[in-house]
Amino acid sequence: MSQPYKGFVPLTRSEYETLTHLLSRLLSTEHAPVIIPGEAILGIEAVAAGISAPGRTIVNVVTGPYGSLFGQWLERGGATVIEVKVPFDEVVPAEEVAAAIERYKPSAVSFVQAEVVTGGSNPAEEIIKIARAHKLITVSDSVSAVGGEALPVDEWGVDFVAIGAQKALAGPNGISAVSISPRGWKFLESNAYAPRNSILSLLDLKPSGKGTAPVRVPPNIPTLEARALISALTAIESEGLEQVIKRHEQAAASAIAGIQALGLEPWQKDSKTYSTLTTTVRISGEEKLHIDHPIGIVAPGDGELFGQLLRINHFGANASLSGVEEAVATIAALLNQDHEQAVQAVRLVWGK
Ligand SMILES: *Cc1c(COP(=O)(O)O)cnc(C)c1O
Repeated sequence: MSQPYKGFVPLTRSEYETLTHLLSRLLSTEHAPVIIPGEAILGIEAVAAGISAPGRTIVNVVTGPYGSLFGQWLERGGATVIEVKVPFDEVVPAEEVAAAIERYKPSAVSFVQAEVVTGGSNPAEEIIKIARAHKLITVSDSVSAVGGEALPVDEWGVDFVAIGAQKALAGPNGISAVSISPRGWKFLESNAYAPRNSILSLLDLKPSGKGTAPVRVPPNIPTLEARALISALTAIESEGLEQVIKRHEQAAASAIAGIQALGLEPWQKDSKTYSTLTTTVRISGEEKLHIDHPIGIVAPGDGELFGQLLRINHFGANASLSGVEEAVATIAALLNQDHEQAVQAVRLVWGK
C-alpha cells in the first residue's frame, strides 16, 4: 500500500551523533572525525589544501595515481614537495621514507595506505613510526584500506586519515570522513594559507570539543548518504571489523591461488605486500587478457597500467567466496581454459 508523501525528514541530532560514534569506533579514535559532504577524494584534496604552504616541505610517497594527485595538490598550495616514488608493481620500503626525511627535513609525510589500482599495500605502521620519531605530521589516504586492513588511528598516532565507505565497507560513495588528531588541527590552524569559507576548508568543519553534544547538525551533511553510511557501518559492527578484514584477507589469498592455478602471476612483486582489496594480475604477452571494459569484478588496468595488468576488485560485498570464484572463472574463460581446477584452488584457500 502506498503511503502519502509526508515530506523529507532532515538528519536528526541523534542520527548525527550515531554516525560520529560509528566512525570513531571504526577508526579506534577518541577524536570525532570530520564528516566530508562528498566522495573521499574531496577530503583528500581538503587535507592537501589545508596543510600546504610556501616554506613547508612535505615528503609525499607515490606508489600509484592517488599519491601523484596528492603531490600535485600540495604543490598547488605552494609547499616544496619531495616525491618518493617507486615502480607501481612495488610498494615503498620504509627505509626510503626514512632516508628522505633525514635528507630533506620535512614537516610532514603523506602516503596511500592501500592501492586498489596497483594491488599493493604500503608499510603504513612503519612509515608513521619513523615520521613520529622525527615529530612530523603524518597523512594517510586510507580510503580503500579501511575495513581491509588494520587502522588503529590513535594507537598509531597518525594525524590525518582520509576514509571512504565505498570500497571495503560496502557503503555509499557520496559521503566520507577525515580523522584529524589534535596535532593535525594545530598544523592546520597555524597555516595562514589553509582555505576558509571554501568547500576545501577543514577548519570550517571542526567538530566541537570532546564530550560536548553538537548544538545542531552541520547543514552540509548529505542526509540520504549519512543514513546510508549509518546502515553500512552498523552492518560492519554486527559482522565485526576484524571479521570484515579477515574476509578481505581470505579473498586476496584465494584470488592469488586461483590465478596461479591458471598459470598467471600477480602484478605486485612481493607477496608480503599484496593489498587485501584487489588482486592485480600481470599481463605478459597473453593477448586474450587485453580487455577494455570490466567483466563483473575483473577490470582492466587504470591509466598507465592499462594493458599491463588485470584487476580483481574483491572488496566490500565482493570480498566473498562466490565473488572470487566468479572472477577466477571469468579470467579462465578469457584464456579459453577450463576453470574447474582454479576454482577448486580458490575454495581450498578460502576454507583454510
Ligand atoms: C578509491 C580511492 C580514492 C578515491 O575515492 P573516491 O571517493 O572514489 O573519490 C582515493 N584514494 C584511494 C587509495 C582509493 O582507493
